[in-house]
Amino acid sequence: MPYNRETAGKGGHSDFVRNPDIQNFLSSCEYLRPPSDDEARVIASQFIQAPEVNPARLPNFVVASDASKNDTPINDKLPSTQIGFVKVSHVLIAMDRYAELIDPATRFVDPFKAAALHRNAQPVTYVLPGSNIKYRGAATVKDGFRLAVYDQFTVNRREGTSRLVLTETLLLLNNNRLTISKCPSCSSQIDLDFSSQQTLRACSRCGVNVYATDWLRLHEGISDFGDNTSAMTRMMNAVEHLLLGAFVLELLNNSPAALSSIAFIIDGPLALFGEPAKLHQRLMSLIHEANARMSTLGYEPILIMGLQKTGNVMDHARLLEKYLPNGVIKVIDDVYRQTYITGSDTVSENFGNETYYGQDFLFKTEKGRIFNFALPYPFPDKGSNGGDFATRKVMLPNYGSLIKRACDLIRYFELDLYDNAIVPVALAHRHASISLVPGGKVLDLITRAGLAR
Ligand SMILES: [Zn+2]
Repeated sequence: MPYNRETAGKGGHSDFVRNPDIQNFLSSCEYLRPPSDDEARVIASQFIQAPEVNPARLPNFVVASDASKNDTPINDKLPSTQIGFVKVSHVLIAMDRYAELIDPATRFVDPFKAAALHRNAQPVTYVLPGSNIKYRGAATVKDGFRLAVYDQFTVNRREGTSRLVLTETLLLLNNNRLTISKCPSCSSQIDLDFSSQQTLRACSRCGVNVYATDWLRLHEGISDFGDNTSAMTRMMNAVEHLLLGAFVLELLNNSPAALSSIAFIIDGPLALFGEPAKLHQRLMSLIHEANARMSTLGYEPILIMGLQKTGNVMDHARLLEKYLPNGVIKVIDDVYRQTYITGSDTVSENFGNETYYGQDFLFKTEKGRIFNFALPYPFPDKGSNGGDFATRKVMLPNYGSLIKRACDLIRYFELDLYDNAIVPVALAHRHASISLVPGGKVLDLITRAGLAR
């Protein structure tokens, strides 16, 4: 996606962009451009005052997640023979103990206390075969990859009788029934149903095993000798959001009071891209159902927030920042996005229709920092063919208390930015990249923290 980045204009890059062929090409493209002063004033006038500051409404606990991935040659002499791993880390922060983590003089995170937190948090790690590796006797890299995904999704990531099994989560998200209509190995039309009792079946044509996890289609990006980076990225994306689903399901069933006092922060948009994108609908309806249950129990909707540090909404925000007063907010509706962010003349029917389960907002705090956050769409589904969804998704009253609570959480953490991110996200990010400890125990930690009532 082309961007016109003013800041990138040093040396070789700008020479390249000045090339007449490139200029000619760009003149026929649509892309984000810096607004003129007049345009910026028009855009700024569309922002409204952010929800009031006092009294702040804060959760008792914050769970921040971050995912990382890596593909590595198994040997320096075999650069094309690779394994990959995907790691999702969750960091649990008790708000009443957060102050201890920050040095009041410098407002920096105390590295020793952060290290203690890291010892408590453990990432969930998935190891996968990459190019040139066939797992457990599979005929192809792709079949081996499918089996590895199935094996690793079927492992219980908690101890004792507690469970965290992503295959189960996947089935729960789909009302315990998944249908696969094309064999992932021989591509024949098949009609195989999967349930929690039957997560593995054989293709009636080629006899190769088909797994419930094939529904995610992660293997479709895998080739025997090619670059499997994009499949790993999809996997990382799917796992991070599935784990969010697993946490919500588990707490909803066993500890709704705990669920009402936690905020979940995901680093990135509330969206799933590529092959597993259809999972976004399941998460959207799960969160809606969970909130309906919470409501009957007398609780408010769960605060689940995506925070984006990069991407075109943030690029746009930085271009606009100096024109905005402090303490304002804007819900990014489709017309706004197309006009000012993607620079397109045509408004799409419903932005993110196949991928997003959350709505983007831009928020400039009272202290002058700008954030792009997302909240889950407060509906069970998007209706047929867009319909009036594009209108409903940007009606602020539909989000109830969530906008105010999201703003309060950002305000609370913005004082202590760390690696240019709010502290929970920064810690989860560091954790995802430093820790080699296997196993995922945030659910146990939540219970141990005395959250379960
Ligand atoms: Zn087959």
